[in-house]
Amino acid sequence: MIKLKGIAAAGGVGIGIALVLSKDEITVPKRRISHDQISREIYRFEVALIDTRKELSNLQKKISKDVGFEHARIFESHFLALEDRVLIEDVISQIKNKKINVEYAFSQSIKKYVDALLNVNDEYLRERVVDIEDISRRVLRKMLKEQAVSLSDLKEKVIIVSHDLAPSQTASLPKEMILGVVSDIGGRTSHTAIIARSLRIPAVVGVEVATKNIKSGDKVIVDGSKGLIIIRPTEKTLKQYKEKLTAYKKDIKSIHIPKALRACTKDGREVRISANLELPEELPLVKEYGAEGVGLYRTEYIFLGRKDLPSEDEQYKAYLEVVKGSSPNQVIFRTIDIGGDKFLSQPEVPKEMSPFLGWRAIRFCLARTDIFKTQLRAILRTSSPGNVRIMFPMISGVEELRQAKTLLEECKKELKKEGKSFDENISIGIMIEVPSAALTADILAKECDFFSIGTNDLIQYSVAVDRANEKVAYLYEPGHPGVLRLIKHIIDAAHTAKIKVGMCGEMSGDPIFSFLLLGMGLDSFSMTPPQVPKIKELINNVKIEDAEKVVRGALKLSTAKDVEKYLQEELKKVLKEKFYRILMI
Ligand code: PEP
Ligand code: MG
Repeated sequence: MIKLKGIAAAGGVGIGIALVLSKDEITVPKRRISHDQISREIYRFEVALIDTRKELSNLQKKISKDVGFEHARIFESHFLALEDRVLIEDVISQIKNKKINVEYAFSQSIKKYVDALLNVNDEYLRERVVDIEDISRRVLRKMLKEQAVSLSDLKEKVIIVSHDLAPSQTASLPKEMILGVVSDIGGRTSHTAIIARSLRIPAVVGVEVATKNIKSGDKVIVDGSKGLIIIRPTEKTLKQYKEKLTAYKKDIKSIHIPKALRACTKDGREVRISANLELPEELPLVKEYGAEGVGLYRTEYIFLGRKDLPSEDEQYKAYLEVVKGSSPNQVIFRTIDIGGDKFLSQPEVPKEMSPFLGWRAIRFCLARTDIFKTQLRAILRTSSPGNVRIMFPMISGVEELRQAKTLLEECKKELKKEGKSFDENISIGIMIEVPSAALTADILAKECDFFSIGTNDLIQYSVAVDRANEKVAYLYEPGHPGVLRLIKHIIDAAHTAKIKVGMCGEMSGDPIFSFLLLGMGLDSFSMTPPQVPKIKELINNVKIEDAEKVVRGALKLSTAKDVEKYLQEELKKVLKEKFYRILMI
């Protein structure tokens, strides 16, 4: 049994068999084996060699048939390596003498083989290194059972383990077949973590060495609430976790969803609690968890994981489904936020050194006005008075806002000419997620209808911490006094300019912070749907004056740790026995 610690990304417990998604580079685990296991490891090696020979021979036949016998001869050195007695004996002797697993022994022997070839003064032999590496990958994959598996045709329920699961891959996971998600990299607000939370799949990210320690077929426990992975658990641990899983399922069923749509404090302040969505399939969650419409619809997901671009009509149909599904409540469409940790597959989008600081979101849209305008037209066409709002992501200054608005006006004119209907007074908002926008909120507020604070990015940009990097995740602190001051400044600037301000970053769904934000005067909260009942219940049980007092106290503190501790204590005092029940929801 091995326990690994990562970042708790999505709560709940998953118990199942691991499916390790391979990258090009194969991770080879090193395991000690007992004397009794030696013959089994040697047998696995022999089977892998025979299977690889068959695979190569089929490939050779196909190439010979398709492009000619001459070309099929490229596999000759592959076959020679597979039959090389020195190599085979070396692997077997390592298994026997060092008592290590066959994959590791084989990879060590291949390393020696490659080093030897690289040191010979013979061009032809040196060039064979590529063939040896190819053959090594083939044999290793056989032993690690890591052949490419299409996630959409999984036959059994699995725990997905990967180095880095892209947001587009996470979004395309067949939810009913996935018991848990584990990745080597990522943080709590990386998009893979956000989607796992939305889909209610237990997830632990940022484990760093998950793919080194887990192989496909291993039994794994994912404790998404504690950020813990248990590989090949003992019978006793397995039993404990099975009990935990049963209790968790019961808790989920007993979730109390406050009836009234709007949350209201004990002294009468009403606030809107809406849902963050990425995919139309998540729509039922809005009503299931009692959210008041959609406060953030991440439109870029329709662009991910495909080679072509969605047409205006395809987008129109998808957005209309969201609008209809949320009716009579409102939907806020956030225009394409591509870049950062979400990439288009189109070849013209280049890889960047610092994608979070690069060609992302509104910057991409203002450069690719063809893509942007197609989307704006599709969104506009779904609007009728009051039901749809548009917001622009990653605005860093007022010029970007002006340019985006000019393009929107062009789209309106075009649609009018074409006789297509839309809401002429559609509300335009911006996400405040860049410190320069936060500090110039007074200027921006004069030129838009609402703000939505995107703390997932605002925190990463103000503390200079890559939100997807597990190595610096300890610095990613919503309670950092610098972050709190920025948020207070944004809310005050919005209210001075008489516009509403909401928050759609993950911070708004965290109970201790939602209490603080309420006191700062935040008008609306948008979060992953499963968080909604908790935050509603919390707001229904506090008074504005208590929340305002807490803001004054929190702003005097010097560190995020002190802030979190203080907020927790104060919330406990206010909620009394309800505190634990609400946190449990
Ligand atoms: C944010 O940055 O807080 C936000 C909600 O947007 P995203 O997580 O999609 O970057
Ligand atoms: Mg953002």
